[in-house]
Amino acid sequence: MINAHTHIFTQKHVPDKFLPEAAKWLADRLLKKNTAKFFKKLKMNALADLSYRYYTFKAIGEIGDQNAIFKHLRGFYPEDTSIVVLSMDMEYMGAGKVPESFELQLKGLADLKKIHGNKILPFVFAHPERPNILDIVKKHIEDPEAPFSGIKIYPALGYFPTDPRLDEVFAYAEVNQIPVMTHCTRGGVFYKGKLTVERRTDPADGKEYPKAKNSKFTEVYSDPDRYRALLNKYPKLKICFAHFGGAGEWDKYLNNSWHGQDNDGKSWFSKVKELLIEYDNVYTDVSYTLYDSKYYGLLKTTLMDSVCRKKVLFGTDYYMLEQEISERAFGINLRGHLGQKDFDQISITNAKAYLNL
Ligand SMILES: [Zn+2]
Repeated sequence: MINAHTHIFTQKHVPDKFLPEAAKWLADRLLKKNTAKFFKKLKMNALADLSYRYYTFKAIGEIGDQNAIFKHLRGFYPEDTSIVVLSMDMEYMGAGKVPESFELQLKGLADLKKIHGNKILPFVFAHPERPNILDIVKKHIEDPEAPFSGIKIYPALGYFPTDPRLDEVFAYAEVNQIPVMTHCTRGGVFYKGKLTVERRTDPADGKEYPKAKNSKFTEVYSDPDRYRALLNKYPKLKICFAHFGGAGEWDKYLNNSWHGQDNDGKSWFSKVKELLIEYDNVYTDVSYTLYDSKYYGLLKTTLMDSVCRKKVLFGTDYYMLEQEISERAFGINLRGHLGQKDFDQISITNAKAYLNL
């Protein structure tokens, strides 16, 4: 089987002002191994769960290098599992200095590739602000000793998917059918710097979006509709919209009349589904979002659609997922519910098509 969405970056790849000072202070001082037990004793079960999950999440980031984290991840799966590992370039998100360079992060992944072969499928991150980004992408994709399997982007870090600085990267990806993975939820990490007019203007059509708090403006960058200009330019681009819009959007779809016609318009679940149907090479994955069993019915019925059935990938978002549920529970619950046939479809057949395996 193939897990199409995980991360093994360490604390050293995260900017120093990534968490607000107060949260960092609390996490470092208060969140100890016994915090969960303490809350449990007071019968504060929700807090106990929350602190246990957050402690586990934090502990994985501190296990050691990418090698150690990858070993921990593999321990949840059968020996022959292939795992997509998505690098992250957080140097330009306006959250301070990153202790270890992006180059070293990529070198760590290349070293793992040399050891593990097809059991690790690393993706190289393409940030438009990094100089010579096309060269970096090509170098890793075409490395004969440690070939990377795809390209990761994350517009919420402060850019539009149609950023012209990524144009050549997308052209290269389309021509060579190299899979691209993008983050698609309203949440996740986001750009913390100043939202200048330039940063608020979509290069695709020159439209300026109104000022908003960074945590809110990030939705402009991540909105599935923002990719239509990109997909019209590169209609054969192989791109996966990670998280299928996010859990909140599944709720919105499930609980509202027709596509959730509230102030925000259509749910992102519906928007991503439309892209799956309209464009041949658009995919999505269920990572993180499907942690809650209340979404299983909608996933199962989505897989009944003959087009969508071929476009959904299994992924977990390790170790971000630890904030909700354990890696093993996520996969086993999903497989148990979907049954072997549907699970094989998303974790083998579709993943192979997406990854050119
Ligand atoms: Zn992720």
